[in-house]
Order: sequence, then structure tokens, then C-alpha cells
Amino acid sequence: QSSEVEKNSPESSPEFTPDDSPLTAVVDEELRLSTTNNHTAAHLMHEALRQVLGEHVNQAGSLVNPEILRFDFTHFEKVSETQLEEIENIVNAVIRKNIPTDIYETPFQEAIDSGITALFGEKYGDVVRVVKVSDFSEELCGGCHVRATGQIGQFRMFSEEAIASGVRRVVAVTGRQAELMNQEHGRVARSLRQLMNVPETQVPKMVEKLADEKRQLEGELQNLRSENALAGISGLISQAEEVEGVQVLAKIIEVDSADTLRKMGQALSEQMSSGVAWLAATMSGKSTLLCVVTDDLVNRGLKAGELVNAVALLADGRGGGKPDMAQAGIKAPEKLAEALASAADLVREKLTN
Ligand SMILES: [Zn+2]
Repeated sequence: QSSEVEKNSPESSPEFTPDDSPLTAVVDEELRLSTTNNHTAAHLMHEALRQVLGEHVNQAGSLVNPEILRFDFTHFEKVSETQLEEIENIVNAVIRKNIPTDIYETPFQEAIDSGITALFGEKYGDVVRVVKVSDFSEELCGGCHVRATGQIGQFRMFSEEAIASGVRRVVAVTGRQAELMNQEHGRVARSLRQLMNVPETQVPKMVEKLADEKRQLEGELQNLRSENALAGISGLISQAEEVEGVQVLAKIIEVDSADTLRKMGQALSEQMSSGVAWLAATMSGKSTLLCVVTDDLVNRGLKAGELVNAVALLADGRGGGKPDMAQAGIKAPEKLAEALASAADLVREKLTN
């Protein structure tokens, strides 16, 4: 086990009460190894980020635990997919070379003079600890590190995002966690390949094609539904009541969209010789009342906007529109049937006054 043991703050063990009995520190070897791998990998990634993105990259925060390493740094644009792969490749090449780490102490000023990476804003003592990986990476650091880079096994980045203006965050895994992530991605890729029945590399193209087809089919279905609804127009007209010599229709119908409802209203006003029609429908939980008035009745002073509101008010709704077509939102659809029953009287009243 490593001779460097990190100091834990007393708050992390609240039930611990010190006495004079000797203590044995126990370190979970597997967890410690994972954390150690991630810590050294963070140093390697820091250098790889500078090589790929530029010398302006400075550490702005980091988190290392047994599962992940998270690294925040200054950079002003998204790190591209290609750059991320390049960074991964550089770190993995250093891992494969199995370079022994060199950890030593030196006066702070000497370290700075020789250009070793120190963290801006961090306080250092007179003597500092340096963690060196050949001529690749050299940082001031007091943490636990691998004896040689090969122990890290592999390095895999899986997320990149902005966390503040000019500050990016990358998250990566190493060793066993990287293996688990590879296996998970392998499982997903295999099941996609089986579901799509194409080679893995063609899966994205296939998904795109399926999405296109779905959009096209939805469009066709919508058209068929409106055609179907329009085909029922003459049937609807035959149910109209005759009031003062004009046709009056007031019905609750089923349609798939507000667009179809308007098309039906349009078709009704074209096909009725002279009349007023109210059509009510509930679409995705919202109830709408549409009213159309044929042109001859518009000329006699009937207004669809007034007529739609006269019925809508009885079902807690309101709306408006043009003299020949108007619509209203209905808040109490359960009152619609009764509200629509007043339609004939409404037209009679308008025509006889
Ligand atoms: Zn460190």
C-alpha cells in the first residue's frame, strides 16, 4: 500500500472519539487504487488538454473519486469530438508506455523557476511535492499517484460541457470504470444492430431514415384523416334542422386536429345553400367550438363571431373571428350538448328580429 496517506478531516468521522489507544488506519485497496488511477489520469489529461487546445488551458477546479475524474478548465469554445479523441489518444499512449512516476520534494521557488505547473490562487509551502511523469507532465501535488502509468489501464472521456463563461468541464473514467463503460456501449450497439438489422456503423443512418419515414407517414395519415372527415360533410348537412328557411347544424364531432375542424367548417359553408353550423370537438384535452355562416346570411347581418360566443358562453367559453367563421375555446365541455341545443332558437331570433 502507498505510504502517502491523505489526511481526513475530523468531520468525516463524526462518531470517532479520540482516546489513548493505538489506532490502525484501514484503506480500501480497490477504492484507493481507482482514486489513484483517476488522480494521475487527471494530471495526464491536464497536459493533453494543453497540447491539443493550447497553453491557455488552466485548471479551474477538479474532482477525483473512485468512479470518475472531473476537470474544469479555461477554454472559450466547445471541445470538438475530434479534439476529445485526440486528448484520449495522447493520455492512452502515455498509459501504454507504462512510465514510472517520479515523486520528489523541492523548494517552491526552484519548482516555479523550472516551469512546473502550479495552480493559480493555490497556497504552497516553502518546500513542495512534485509529481512527474517523465517529461510529459510535472505538477505540484500532494495527492496519491500510481507508481507507473500502466496501472491506469485505460482512459475514456464521456462528457464535455460549459459550466461558466470561458470555463469547460470534462468528465472521464479510467481502469475498471472505463471497461464497464465500454461494455455498456457495446451492449447498446449490439441491441441497436439487432433491432435495426444493419451493421453497427449503419445504425445512425438507419435511425435517421426511420425518423424521416415516420414524419412522412404522419403527414399522410393526417391527410387521410382530413379527407375522411371531409367525406362525411354531406352526411352532416343531411342532419341540419330547417329554421326560417335556412339550415342550422349544431353538433359535437370527432376530429384529429384544429386544422381538420376548420377545413370541415369551410366545406360546410361551401356546401350548405344557406345556413349556420356549429361544430364542437375535443382535441388533445382541449375543447373548441367553431361556427360558420354562409355568405348570404352574413349579408343579412348574421355574424359568426357573435354566434360562436352566444353558444360558447353557455359552456364557459369565449372566442371570436370573422363574420363567416369564428371559433371559441370551451372550458366546460360537459355543458356543450345543452349549449348546442339553443342553436336553432338563436338563429330564429336573429332572423326574425
Ligand atoms: Zn494532483
